[in-house]
Amino acid sequence: MEELLQEINEPVAGAHGVRLLLWRDDLVNPTLPGNKARKLKYNLVAARQQGHHALLTFGGAYSNHIAALAAAGRLFGFKTIGLIRGDAPAKGSGPARLNPTLAQATADGMALHYLDRSSYRRRAAPEFLAEQLARFGPAYVLPEGGTNALAIPGCAELVAEIRQRTAFDALAVAVGTGGTLAGLVTGLAGTEQALGVAALKNGGFLQTEVDGLTQLAAGQAFTNFSLHTDYHFGGYAKYSAELLGFIQQFQARNGVLLDPIYTGKLLFGVLDLIGKGYFPRGSTVVAIHTGGLQAWAGWRERFGGSEA
Ligand SMILES: *Cc1c(COP(=O)(O)O)cnc(C)c1O
Repeated sequence: MEELLQEINEPVAGAHGVRLLLWRDDLVNPTLPGNKARKLKYNLVAARQQGHHALLTFGGAYSNHIAALAAAGRLFGFKTIGLIRGDAPAKGSGPARLNPTLAQATADGMALHYLDRSSYRRRAAPEFLAEQLARFGPAYVLPEGGTNALAIPGCAELVAEIRQRTAFDALAVAVGTGGTLAGLVTGLAGTEQALGVAALKNGGFLQTEVDGLTQLAAGQAFTNFSLHTDYHFGGYAKYSAELLGFIQQFQARNGVLLDPIYTGKLLFGVLDLIGKGYFPRGSTVVAIHTGGLQAWAGWRERFGGSEA
Protein backbone atom coordinates (compact mmCIF):
# COMPACT_ATOMS: atom_id res chain seq x y z
CA MET A 1 0.00 0.00 0.00
CA GLU A 2 1.19 3.49 -0.79
CA GLU A 3 2.05 5.73 2.15
CA LEU A 4 -1.21 7.00 3.67
CA LEU A 5 0.27 10.19 5.04
CA GLN A 6 2.05 12.21 2.43
CA GLU A 7 4.18 15.34 2.78
CA ILE A 8 2.97 18.14 0.48
CA ASN A 9 5.82 20.49 -0.41
CA GLU A 10 4.03 23.55 -1.76
CA PRO A 11 6.12 26.73 -1.77
CA VAL A 12 3.42 28.74 0.02
CA ALA A 13 3.49 26.29 2.93
CA GLY A 14 7.27 26.51 3.22
CA ALA A 15 7.14 30.31 3.08
CA HIS A 16 4.65 30.43 5.96
CA GLY A 17 6.34 27.78 8.08
CA VAL A 18 3.39 25.37 7.83
CA ARG A 19 3.86 21.62 7.47
CA LEU A 20 1.13 20.34 5.18
CA LEU A 21 0.33 16.63 5.09
CA LEU A 22 -2.24 14.82 2.97
CA TRP A 23 -4.09 11.83 4.42
CA ARG A 24 -4.90 9.49 1.54
CA ASP A 25 -8.30 8.15 2.53
CA ASP A 26 -8.72 7.51 -1.19
CA LEU A 27 -6.16 4.70 -0.78
CA VAL A 28 -7.24 3.20 2.56
CA ASN A 29 -9.53 0.64 0.96
CA PRO A 30 -9.18 0.27 -2.82
CA THR A 31 -12.56 -1.44 -3.27
CA LEU A 32 -14.45 1.04 -1.10
CA PRO A 33 -12.43 4.27 -0.89
CA GLY A 34 -13.03 7.54 0.83
CA ASN A 35 -15.43 9.08 3.27
CA LYS A 36 -18.58 7.55 1.77
CA ALA A 37 -17.34 4.14 2.88
CA ARG A 38 -16.64 5.45 6.38
CA LYS A 39 -20.17 6.83 6.60
CA LEU A 40 -21.59 3.47 5.55
CA LYS A 41 -19.65 1.30 8.01
CA TYR A 42 -21.93 1.45 11.07
CA ASN A 43 -25.01 1.80 8.93
CA LEU A 44 -24.25 -1.56 7.36
CA VAL A 45 -23.77 -3.08 10.81
CA ALA A 46 -27.17 -1.69 11.84
CA ALA A 47 -28.82 -2.88 8.63
CA ARG A 48 -27.51 -6.40 9.24
CA GLN A 49 -28.55 -6.34 12.93
CA GLN A 50 -32.04 -5.24 11.95
CA GLY A 51 -32.27 -8.18 9.56
CA HIS A 52 -32.36 -6.15 6.35
CA HIS A 53 -31.31 -7.65 3.04
CA ALA A 54 -31.72 -4.48 1.01
CA LEU A 55 -30.41 -0.92 1.18
CA LEU A 56 -32.30 1.98 -0.38
CA THR A 57 -30.92 5.45 -0.92
CA PHE A 58 -31.13 8.68 -2.89
CA GLY A 59 -28.66 10.62 -4.97
CA GLY A 60 -27.79 12.64 -8.04
CA ALA A 61 -26.75 10.83 -11.20
CA TYR A 62 -23.01 11.29 -10.53
CA SER A 63 -23.11 10.81 -6.76
CA ASN A 64 -20.13 9.34 -4.90
CA HIS A 65 -22.58 8.05 -2.30
CA ILE A 66 -24.57 6.12 -4.91
CA ALA A 67 -21.30 4.64 -6.21
CA ALA A 68 -20.15 3.64 -2.71
CA LEU A 69 -23.49 2.15 -1.68
CA ALA A 70 -23.69 0.03 -4.83
CA ALA A 71 -20.14 -1.25 -4.28
CA ALA A 72 -20.85 -1.94 -0.60
CA GLY A 73 -23.97 -3.89 -1.53
CA ARG A 74 -21.97 -6.10 -3.87
CA LEU A 75 -19.15 -6.62 -1.34
CA PHE A 76 -21.37 -7.32 1.67
CA GLY A 77 -24.30 -9.08 0.04
CA PHE A 78 -27.09 -6.51 0.20
CA LYS A 79 -29.56 -5.80 -2.55
CA THR A 80 -29.32 -2.08 -3.37
CA ILE A 81 -31.92 0.32 -4.70
CA GLY A 82 -30.91 3.78 -5.90
CA LEU A 83 -33.56 6.48 -6.31
CA ILE A 84 -31.92 8.92 -8.68
CA ARG A 85 -32.82 12.58 -9.09
CA GLY A 86 -33.97 13.44 -12.60
CA ASP A 87 -35.15 11.69 -15.72
CA ALA A 88 -34.21 8.20 -16.84
CA PRO A 89 -31.65 8.27 -19.68
CA ALA A 90 -33.35 8.36 -23.10
CA LYS A 91 -33.76 4.91 -24.59
CA GLY A 92 -33.36 5.97 -28.24
CA SER A 93 -32.81 3.09 -30.64
CA GLY A 94 -30.17 1.24 -28.63
CA PRO A 95 -30.10 0.31 -24.96
CA ALA A 96 -30.39 3.21 -22.48
CA ARG A 97 -27.01 4.80 -22.11
CA LEU A 98 -26.08 5.25 -18.48
CA ASN A 99 -23.43 7.68 -17.32
CA PRO A 100 -20.25 6.05 -15.90
CA THR A 101 -21.40 6.34 -12.26
CA LEU A 102 -24.77 4.72 -12.93
CA ALA A 103 -23.29 2.13 -15.29
CA GLN A 104 -20.91 1.01 -12.53
CA ALA A 105 -23.70 1.08 -9.93
CA THR A 106 -25.77 -1.16 -12.21
CA ALA A 107 -22.80 -3.47 -12.72
CA ASP A 108 -22.54 -3.65 -8.92
CA GLY A 109 -26.14 -4.83 -8.84
CA MET A 110 -27.98 -1.65 -7.90
CA ALA A 111 -31.54 -1.30 -9.18
CA LEU A 112 -32.03 2.26 -10.42
CA HIS A 113 -35.27 4.22 -10.40
CA TYR A 114 -35.72 7.86 -11.28
CA LEU A 115 -37.57 10.55 -9.37
CA ASP A 116 -38.70 13.81 -10.91
CA ARG A 117 -37.52 16.93 -9.12
CA SER A 118 -40.68 17.49 -7.11
CA SER A 119 -40.76 13.88 -5.86
CA TYR A 120 -37.05 14.06 -5.11
CA ARG A 121 -37.61 17.09 -2.93
CA ARG A 122 -39.82 14.96 -0.66
CA ARG A 123 -37.05 12.37 -0.15
CA ALA A 124 -36.75 12.87 3.62
CA ALA A 125 -40.51 13.04 4.36
CA PRO A 126 -41.68 9.99 6.39
CA GLU A 127 -44.85 9.43 4.31
CA PHE A 128 -42.83 9.60 1.08
CA LEU A 129 -40.33 7.06 2.47
CA ALA A 130 -43.22 4.81 3.48
CA GLU A 131 -44.53 4.97 -0.10
CA GLN A 132 -41.11 4.03 -1.48
CA LEU A 133 -40.79 1.07 0.90
CA ALA A 134 -44.27 -0.09 -0.11
CA ARG A 135 -43.13 0.11 -3.73
CA PHE A 136 -39.70 -1.56 -3.41
CA GLY A 137 -40.12 -3.78 -0.35
CA PRO A 138 -38.47 -3.61 3.07
CA ALA A 139 -35.07 -1.92 3.05
CA TYR A 140 -32.66 -0.07 5.30
CA VAL A 141 -32.89 3.56 4.18
CA LEU A 142 -29.90 5.87 3.90
CA PRO A 143 -30.34 9.57 3.17
CA GLU A 144 -28.77 11.42 0.25
CA GLY A 145 -25.01 11.72 0.81
CA GLY A 146 -25.15 9.01 3.48
CA THR A 147 -25.16 11.44 6.40
CA ASN A 148 -27.08 10.35 9.49
CA ALA A 149 -26.25 9.71 13.15
CA LEU A 150 -24.53 6.38 12.38
CA ALA A 151 -22.31 8.01 9.75
CA ILE A 152 -20.56 10.06 12.43
CA PRO A 153 -18.67 7.34 14.38
CA GLY A 154 -17.25 5.88 11.15
CA CYS A 155 -15.77 9.26 10.23
CA ALA A 156 -14.62 9.90 13.80
CA GLU A 157 -12.35 6.83 13.55
CA LEU A 158 -10.20 8.71 11.06
CA VAL A 159 -8.87 10.92 13.84
CA ALA A 160 -7.25 8.04 15.73
CA GLU A 161 -5.81 6.59 12.51
CA ILE A 162 -4.13 9.90 11.72
CA ARG A 163 -2.95 10.39 15.33
CA GLN A 164 -1.20 7.01 15.19
CA ARG A 165 1.06 8.43 12.50
CA THR A 166 1.49 12.09 13.36
CA ALA A 167 0.72 14.87 15.79
CA PHE A 168 -1.12 17.79 14.18
CA ASP A 169 -2.70 21.15 14.92
CA ALA A 170 -5.55 21.03 12.42
CA LEU A 171 -7.43 18.61 10.18
CA ALA A 172 -9.03 19.96 7.01
CA VAL A 173 -11.80 18.33 4.98
CA ALA A 174 -14.15 19.16 2.11
CA VAL A 175 -17.78 19.61 3.12
CA GLY A 176 -21.00 18.64 1.38
CA THR A 177 -23.63 17.69 3.96
CA GLY A 178 -21.23 18.25 6.89
CA GLY A 179 -21.35 14.63 8.08
CA THR A 180 -17.65 13.95 7.62
CA LEU A 181 -16.62 17.19 9.32
CA ALA A 182 -19.01 16.40 12.20
CA GLY A 183 -17.32 12.99 12.50
CA LEU A 184 -13.86 14.54 12.68
CA VAL A 185 -15.03 17.09 15.26
CA THR A 186 -16.53 14.26 17.32
CA GLY A 187 -13.29 12.27 17.05
CA LEU A 188 -11.19 15.28 18.09
CA ALA A 189 -13.42 15.71 21.16
CA GLY A 190 -12.48 19.34 21.70
CA THR A 191 -8.70 19.13 21.22
CA GLU A 192 -7.10 20.18 17.90
CA GLN A 193 -8.87 22.27 15.26
CA ALA A 194 -10.94 21.03 12.32
CA LEU A 195 -11.56 23.08 9.18
CA GLY A 196 -14.29 22.45 6.65
CA VAL A 197 -14.13 23.82 3.11
CA ALA A 198 -17.60 23.96 1.60
CA ALA A 199 -18.08 22.53 -1.90
CA LEU A 200 -21.58 23.98 -2.22
CA LYS A 201 -22.54 27.56 -2.84
CA ASN A 202 -24.84 28.37 0.06
CA GLY A 203 -22.92 26.89 2.96
CA GLY A 204 -24.61 29.08 5.57
CA PHE A 205 -26.63 26.17 6.96
CA LEU A 206 -23.57 24.06 7.71
CA GLN A 207 -22.71 25.43 11.16
CA THR A 208 -26.13 24.41 12.49
CA GLU A 209 -25.92 21.12 10.62
CA VAL A 210 -22.54 20.14 12.10
CA ASP A 211 -23.63 21.25 15.59
CA GLY A 212 -26.76 19.11 15.28
CA LEU A 213 -24.79 16.06 14.13
CA THR A 214 -22.16 16.25 16.88
CA GLN A 215 -24.99 16.74 19.37
CA LEU A 216 -26.58 13.53 18.07
CA ALA A 217 -23.34 11.55 18.10
CA ALA A 218 -21.54 12.91 21.16
CA GLY A 219 -24.29 14.66 23.10
CA GLN A 220 -22.64 18.05 22.70
CA ALA A 221 -21.64 20.74 20.21
CA PHE A 222 -17.97 21.72 19.89
CA THR A 223 -16.32 25.07 19.15
CA ASN A 224 -12.97 23.84 17.78
CA PHE A 225 -14.00 23.87 14.12
CA SER A 226 -14.44 26.47 11.43
CA LEU A 227 -16.25 26.54 8.10
CA HIS A 228 -14.82 28.21 5.00
CA THR A 229 -17.41 28.99 2.37
CA ASP A 230 -15.42 31.08 -0.16
CA TYR A 231 -13.92 28.20 -2.14
CA HIS A 232 -16.97 26.69 -3.84
CA PHE A 233 -16.00 27.89 -7.37
CA GLY A 234 -19.61 28.49 -8.37
CA GLY A 235 -21.10 25.59 -6.42
CA TYR A 236 -21.55 21.83 -6.55
CA ALA A 237 -20.25 20.24 -9.77
CA LYS A 238 -19.77 23.59 -11.51
CA TYR A 239 -17.08 23.87 -14.17
CA SER A 240 -14.25 26.25 -13.29
CA ALA A 241 -11.17 26.59 -15.48
CA GLU A 242 -9.25 28.05 -12.54
CA LEU A 243 -10.02 25.09 -10.29
CA LEU A 244 -9.19 22.55 -13.02
CA GLY A 245 -5.91 24.36 -13.68
CA PHE A 246 -5.10 24.15 -9.98
CA ILE A 247 -5.91 20.41 -9.88
CA GLN A 248 -3.61 19.85 -12.84
CA GLN A 249 -0.75 21.79 -11.24
CA PHE A 250 -1.25 20.05 -7.92
CA GLN A 251 -0.99 16.67 -9.62
CA ALA A 252 2.12 17.72 -11.53
CA ARG A 253 3.83 18.96 -8.36
CA ASN A 254 2.70 16.33 -5.87
CA GLY A 255 1.70 13.31 -7.92
CA VAL A 256 -1.79 13.22 -6.43
CA LEU A 257 -5.02 13.43 -8.38
CA LEU A 258 -7.76 15.41 -6.62
CA ASP A 259 -11.43 15.33 -7.61
CA PRO A 260 -13.18 18.33 -9.20
CA ILE A 261 -16.10 18.55 -6.78
CA TYR A 262 -14.62 18.28 -3.28
CA THR A 263 -10.91 17.71 -2.71
CA GLY A 264 -9.72 20.14 -5.41
CA LYS A 265 -11.56 22.91 -3.58
CA LEU A 266 -10.22 21.68 -0.24
CA LEU A 267 -6.56 21.89 -1.26
CA PHE A 268 -7.08 25.19 -3.06
CA GLY A 269 -8.71 26.59 0.07
CA VAL A 270 -6.12 25.25 2.49
CA LEU A 271 -3.23 26.65 0.42
CA ASP A 272 -5.02 29.99 0.14
CA LEU A 273 -5.54 30.10 3.91
CA ILE A 274 -1.89 29.23 4.48
CA GLY A 275 -0.92 32.10 2.15
CA LYS A 276 -3.10 34.46 4.16
CA GLY A 277 -1.35 33.53 7.40
CA TYR A 278 -4.37 31.70 8.82
CA PHE A 279 -2.19 29.05 10.51
CA PRO A 280 0.54 30.05 12.98
CA ARG A 281 4.12 29.31 11.94
CA GLY A 282 5.16 25.84 13.05
CA SER A 283 1.65 24.40 12.55
CA THR A 284 1.07 20.94 11.16
CA VAL A 285 -2.06 20.74 9.02
CA VAL A 286 -3.44 17.45 7.74
CA ALA A 287 -5.76 17.75 4.73
CA ILE A 288 -7.89 14.69 4.02
CA HIS A 289 -8.25 13.25 0.53
CA THR A 290 -11.78 11.88 0.84
CA GLY A 291 -11.76 10.13 -2.55
CA GLY A 292 -14.44 10.92 -5.13
CA LEU A 293 -12.24 10.07 -8.09
CA GLN A 294 -15.02 8.03 -9.69
CA ALA A 295 -16.60 11.39 -10.57
CA TRP A 296 -13.93 12.17 -13.19
CA ALA A 297 -15.37 9.81 -15.81
CA GLY A 298 -18.77 11.51 -15.71
CA TRP A 299 -17.11 14.91 -15.51
CA ARG A 300 -15.17 14.32 -18.71
CA GLU A 301 -18.30 13.09 -20.41
CA ARG A 302 -20.18 16.28 -19.48
CA PHE A 303 -17.42 18.86 -19.84
CA GLY A 304 -14.87 17.17 -22.09
CA GLY A 305 -11.09 17.39 -21.68
CA SER A 306 -9.11 15.33 -19.26
CA GLU A 307 -7.89 15.63 -15.73
CA ALA A 308 -4.20 16.45 -16.01
C1 LIG B 1 -19.43 13.43 -0.12
C2 LIG B 1 -18.00 13.87 -0.17
C3 LIG B 1 -17.49 14.87 0.69
C4 LIG B 1 -18.37 15.60 1.66
O1 LIG B 1 -18.82 14.79 2.69
P1 LIG B 1 -20.01 15.25 3.63
O2 LIG B 1 -20.00 14.27 4.73
O3 LIG B 1 -21.27 15.18 2.82
O4 LIG B 1 -19.76 16.65 4.07
C5 LIG B 1 -16.16 15.19 0.60
N1 LIG B 1 -15.35 14.60 -0.29
C6 LIG B 1 -15.79 13.66 -1.15
C7 LIG B 1 -14.84 13.08 -2.13
C8 LIG B 1 -17.13 13.26 -1.11
O5 LIG B 1 -17.58 12.32 -1.96
